[in-house]
Amino acid sequence: MALVLTVVAGAVALLAWGAARAYLPELNIRKPAIAEYEPVLATPTPRISRRVVLVIIDGLRLQDSFGRETLDRLRRTGIDAIATSHYPSISRPNHATIVTGVPPLVSGIRNNTYRSPVAIDSLMDRVRAAGLHATYVADDSPSLGYLFGDDFSSLYYGRWPGAFEKSTQLAMADPTNSLLVLIPGKVDIAGHEHGGDSDEYRQAAHDVDAQLGKSLRLLDLQADTIIVTADHGHTDAGGHGGEEDVVLQVPLIMAGAGIRSDALLGSAELIDIAPTVAALLGVPAPGHALGRTLTEVLELPPQQIRALQAADRVRIRTNAERYEESLRARRVETTKETRARLILLAGLLVLGLAALALSRRAGALHIDWRVLVIAVPAYPLCYYGLLDVLGQSLSFSALQDRGSEMSSLSRFGLVATGVQLLAGWLALRGRIVLRDRLASANALVATGLLVAWIPAALLWASFGTAPHVEMPSSRVALLIPANYVAVATYAIGSTIFLTLEIVVFFARAVDPRIRLRRLERAAAKERRRLEKGE
Ligand SMILES: [Zn+2]
Repeated sequence: MALVLTVVAGAVALLAWGAARAYLPELNIRKPAIAEYEPVLATPTPRISRRVVLVIIDGLRLQDSFGRETLDRLRRTGIDAIATSHYPSISRPNHATIVTGVPPLVSGIRNNTYRSPVAIDSLMDRVRAAGLHATYVADDSPSLGYLFGDDFSSLYYGRWPGAFEKSTQLAMADPTNSLLVLIPGKVDIAGHEHGGDSDEYRQAAHDVDAQLGKSLRLLDLQADTIIVTADHGHTDAGGHGGEEDVVLQVPLIMAGAGIRSDALLGSAELIDIAPTVAALLGVPAPGHALGRTLTEVLELPPQQIRALQAADRVRIRTNAERYEESLRARRVETTKETRARLILLAGLLVLGLAALALSRRAGALHIDWRVLVIAVPAYPLCYYGLLDVLGQSLSFSALQDRGSEMSSLSRFGLVATGVQLLAGWLALRGRIVLRDRLASANALVATGLLVAWIPAALLWASFGTAPHVEMPSSRVALLIPANYVAVATYAIGSTIFLTLEIVVFFARAVDPRIRLRRLERAAAKERRRLEKGE
């Protein structure tokens, strides 16, 4: 019985760990429905900018974009606005949003594990179709290179100190570049390492701002346009991905050629940037975009503005209908899959309970109050301990973006396993009869696993299978992997615990010397007690 349970616990650990690891990659959609359709392209309005420099300061939240010398100077000469990022507020998905006008829910690019080229129409496609060149400069991750590498005429990527500045200079010195996409990563790195409310984060924002100031000397804002924004913000503790204001609100600063300095911009989203950049360069908006051209900031005559607005209406309506259509089709399938999974789970539960009852009757399981008191709360404790380690509110932002969650999760797993072994050992202490001890150990693991398994299994069933055309909400998006990891941790602990118990059982049963030594020790203790009493 103990051997069978060890194998079951080991298998549960592997399954749960596998599910936790597969979770983020599975949120991505390899072939988004929108990319299957022809892009909706309109006749462009006249070009009003020689080149557009689009700076995406990775992870710069709105509040920390103020009080920066270069950004504030640009604000004074141009447009000072707030843009809303899109859920999940993660880097690569929103880098893609900015250059395509398609939000992550529709593009299927939901996290940084997305690495394959995507067939969604982009600003770079439009620029290239017009015979112009687009260039990309990055220093932390060649994020857009993975997704749209072939669409750029040149790519600069280097992590060494000074690489970003040097690459920016080279890209700006080349007069054939009409679109420059610059993504400095320093602010985001500081946010993850030290939190959004830290001196290091503010210093990084200051550094990137100063660097931008130097590069701007190479631009002539009479002819060129600069747009500065961010893909997402950061929580005070460091992290993003969820729907908190502090991670969704980012700066949107526009200045230079083609931008009216007297305009007021009410509300903007990151999806609006691509159509606006396209209008500045006199190319059609990317044809899968769901965003609007920010016409109120453009220096164009009224009839051109009306033409852009009319084209936007057609494009947005068409693409929204296409997405709704794919959503409806997928919902029908998901309902069927969920039903099948729930039936499977109910069957497994009945089997598990039957096995439990049978083994109890056969004497292989010994369930008493001590076993239940330890086994039942073990998993919930594991689970809440885990959320505490993640250290934030119940939001996708707690699951960090840079792979650091894995190290904090495994650290947690180690501690939880240790605590579980200790609790199990305490529960079994003093059981002299070996058979009884092993039967109690079996009961501890069997009941514990049954309790642990149910919430994770229900989440697995109701969440459906890939492709996830719909994304779970920020809270659920965290609950799912957190449950998987907690089950994995609990099952690993159980496997080790039972293996030790089996070793104890055989060592003691086979080796009479161990029993003898125990008896001698007990006798010595008794003797000392008697001596003290006299
Ligand atoms: Zn980012």
